Amino acid sequence: MLPTSISTRVAVAFGAVLTLGLLLVLGGSLLAHHISAENAAAGRLAGLLQLEDRQDQRQRRLRLGVGEVTRLAEQERAITPRQWASVAEALRFFRHGVAAAPADPEVSADLRALMDARRIAETRFAALSLGLLTEARRAPERIGPDMPAFLAALRHLESRRTAVRERLVERIAATVRNNSVELRRRMWRILAGAVAVLLFLLACTLWLRRQVIKPIVAIAERVRQLSAGADAGAHVPGATRHDELGDLARGIGEYRAAVELRQRAERHIDYLAHHDVLTGLPNRLLFEERLKQELVRATRIGERLAVFAIDLDEFKSINDRFGHAGGDEALCSAARLLSGCVRASDLVARLGGDEFAIIQVGGAQPDAAEALVRRILRACEATVGDTVPVQMSIGVALSGAAQEREELYNLADMAMYRAKAEGRHTARFFDDQFKEEVRLRWRLSRDLDGAIERGELYLAFQPIADTATLEVIGHEALVRWAHPELGEIPPDRFIPLAEASGRIDAIGRWVADRAMEAASAWPEHITLALNLSALQFRQPALAHELLALARRHRIAPTRLEFEVTESATLLDNRRQPVLTVLRTLQHQGARIVMDDFGTGYSSLSNLRDFRFDKLKVDRSFVMTMLDHAPSASIVRSIVALGTSLGIPVVAEGVENEAQLALLRKWSLNQVQGYLLGRPSREPVDVVDIAGGGFGQCPKMVI
Ligand code: C2E
Ligand code: CA
Ligand code: CA
Repeated sequence: MLPTSISTRVAVAFGAVLTLGLLLVLGGSLLAHHISAENAAAGRLAGLLQLEDRQDQRQRRLRLGVGEVTRLAEQERAITPRQWASVAEALRFFRHGVAAAPADPEVSADLRALMDARRIAETRFAALSLGLLTEARRAPERIGPDMPAFLAALRHLESRRTAVRERLVERIAATVRNNSVELRRRMWRILAGAVAVLLFLLACTLWLRRQVIKPIVAIAERVRQLSAGADAGAHVPGATRHDELGDLARGIGEYRAAVELRQRAERHIDYLAHHDVLTGLPNRLLFEERLKQELVRATRIGERLAVFAIDLDEFKSINDRFGHAGGDEALCSAARLLSGCVRASDLVARLGGDEFAIIQVGGAQPDAAEALVRRILRACEATVGDTVPVQMSIGVALSGAAQEREELYNLADMAMYRAKAEGRHTARFFDDQFKEEVRLRWRLSRDLDGAIERGELYLAFQPIADTATLEVIGHEALVRWAHPELGEIPPDRFIPLAEASGRIDAIGRWVADRAMEAASAWPEHITLALNLSALQFRQPALAHELLALARRHRIAPTRLEFEVTESATLLDNRRQPVLTVLRTLQHQGARIVMDDFGTGYSSLSNLRDFRFDKLKVDRSFVMTMLDHAPSASIVRSIVALGTSLGIPVVAEGVENEAQLALLRKWSLNQVQGYLLGRPSREPVDVVDIAGGGFGQCPKMVI
């Protein structure tokens, strides 16, 4: 079976290349060895040839010496000692040459036979030469007859030597020839081996390219696509392979799946962080981020964008009537309604509670915003028949140059509040007049800082009298602000600013302190009514602080009345701490008065949850009850309600005698209003109604 893993295959291929390479090296070294062996053989043959030549020279010298000596001896001429010494040396050399001839074992048999024959011929020639020299010395006459044998031996020797030399030359030539043939043959083999190695390497490269490189490139390409956000479900190529690349592809696939899982979780977390769970709309965070981006974009391209602040009307009463499920349904249908009115490029967000917002982009303003307002109000009207109808108040602000995010939204929010104040289910644009108002509000808010320290605040007291006797039974403390430049600023104007900026606590404390200080000089039976803002209830120690002040000014808590509006008692989730404060005060004997009764949405449910000590009918009903029958009915019902609950009812805003007469007729307990006395720095001790027919009433003296 073929190996499956790449590493094994590469190892096998590497082993094969290595073996082939080793074989090539071996072949090369064998060739080199062969060449050197053949060269050595040729060298040896050449050496033998040299020896033959040298021996031939010695032979020639011996022949010449013997010829010379024998010739002189035959002619009976004297032979000099030098001549004798020379020929004796030639003979010795020749013999030495014969004796020294090497017995080469490598020499072929035929050559050896030739060389042996030549050596025999040499030995005989040497012996015959010695014989002739001996005769030349002792019996020159025998030279003649022995000469032919000598010459024959010489010829024989020469023929033998020639044979040996020819054979040697022949052998050398053959060796050289064989050598070159063998060399060429072996070279071809090595070349063939090298070509085989190259072909194998080429095959390995092609295999590597097809089986490894290409799949790696494909995997890398896929990884790149995946990291660029390509379809996460698509597979990674090579995942079905059974080798390391298969492992890699599967590993990448698994990694990608894990990353995808995490990204999905992150997207979900991101979605949750940026969306409202109930309606699925973007939340405040996303709204603010998007508004920031859109403002940058709009400023860059010179476009105006519109921001809508939207608040559901009467959401609290929806919650009260239909419970939380009804409230949720109203919010969801509002979300659907708004989403259905905008274009895809706009953003609808739920900022919290019943607050929604829209960022409208890409339209010609203010026409586009006006058209959107019309669409929304029309869609709201269409829900009138529904179980939970949706009505909204809308504020719109258009972006200007270098508009800040918060500023733009705040302007829309202010416009929304104005829409709410001006009758609900309507829309208001933040315009120039509005801008002027806002500027003034900002100024007042700024100037309010330090107004206490600068002594700009003062108190006015308005009497509250018994309806039947018109006896002053107490005073309500009302704060005033004498602005050094803008004159008198009514509390309706600056109390909300103090609430928004958090200065209400200090002002409330100051009012309570001063009012109690003033009240400490009044007769014991005269009560002091203090207004408490909803936001003051954020301090848990409020009750203790007020009671401590009362102690300091030696005022019995039973002389104190605290007027709270519905907004104070209805702080939804903060309701419990509010009730705790009220109960603490009540427990110490102070009375808790429900101010502006009848204007809230859930005045009655408030009565259910807390036992108020007094109800104060809102002046809007009192002031209109003479010529507006429903107002009269409301006042009458409130009086009846007080009677049935066993708590007194006071009417504020009593401006004329007709109103007073009617209230008397209905047996209302207490009255307050310009008719009885305007708020003044010095509390009036008696109420004096000129020509009012109440002369018989005893005027109370404080
Ligand atoms: P409120 O508690 O309903 O106070 C009664 C308001 O009706 C006073 O206005 C008073 O001047 C006015 N008023 C009394 N009789 C008549 C009348 O016969 N006709 C008419 N047209 N108005 C009458 P003011 O002093 O401007 O106060 C407005 C509101 O400011 C108060 O309404 C109260 O909510 C708030 N406020 C005043 N002083 C304080 C304070 O010390 N603390 C807090 N938290 N709020 C205060
Ligand atoms: Ca009041
Ligand atoms: Ca009031």
